[in-house]
Amino acid sequence: AQVLINGEIVTRIDAKVDIEDRAYQFGDGIYEVIRVYNGICYQLEEHIQRLERSAKEIRLSLPFSAEEFTQQLQELVKGNQLQEGIIYTQVTRGVAPRYHGFPSDDVKPQFVAYTKDLPRPTAFMEHGVKAVLLEDVRWLRCDIKSLNLLGNVLAKQKANDEGGFEAIQHRGDIVTEGSSSNVFLVQEGILYTHPASSLILNGITRVKVLELCEKLELIVKEQEFTVKDLLDADEVFITSTTSEVMPITQIDDQPVGPGIPGPLTVKLQQEFVKGF
Ligand code: PLP
Repeated sequence: AQVLINGEIVTRIDAKVDIEDRAYQFGDGIYEVIRVYNGICYQLEEHIQRLERSAKEIRLSLPFSAEEFTQQLQELVKGNQLQEGIIYTQVTRGVAPRYHGFPSDDVKPQFVAYTKDLPRPTAFMEHGVKAVLLEDVRWLRCDIKSLNLLGNVLAKQKANDEGGFEAIQHRGDIVTEGSSSNVFLVQEGILYTHPASSLILNGITRVKVLELCEKLELIVKEQEFTVKDLLDADEVFITSTTSEVMPITQIDDQPVGPGIPGPLTVKLQQEFVKGF
């Protein structure tokens, strides 16, 4: 397979990363995961804009323009003849002797991208999946798509240990987001999701679903809700680039509503697939 490394497309074994890369030692970098449907990058512009935002927030200056990067990612997808899958891409603050403060200005950010075949999770989307609840113990800048993912890793593993697909996190009573997804609930026909604050990553799929709600004339409130609201909801779903609109039909040992994907969830799923 071909990969992109610092602007060059090479075969994977020829891409070398230094042991003193700051991502390796500090998680000092940012990333994106982009969906590819029918050989076309979905919402690539939105993903690159979010990467630019993350870079700005961690005071990293990206070593490429949006136009250059778009072209390189498209070339990679084409070179790997990827039809249905993802692009993973990350940018790190570069290679320097280990020291917490930023390296000198001559140290250049390093970036890679590679592709992976990944079918849409259609069976899960049709039947719904289980989520588990846990306290959100992550830092307070979850709006940055940072490579520091230990909190998210431990959360997802708790879900997996308990036979769940996703971990839904809460800070005290307030539900924030999944380990790698945003959370929506439906109560009496109204949708709720956590506002796009520093406590969640503002998902590209989240924003897409907000747009679809407007199009379908569904009422949606970007408003905090509690764990109790979640457990009492008629419908719950999560959104992410890889999981699209994924119904949550069980939380811990309790069914959500009647325990099957709800009507508004299904409606949004159907509308979502029209977009690609
Ligand atoms: N929240 C977190 C913590 C994530 O890691 C992700 C994506 O992986 C999301 C939300 C969903 O974002 P997106 O819809 O852009 O994939």
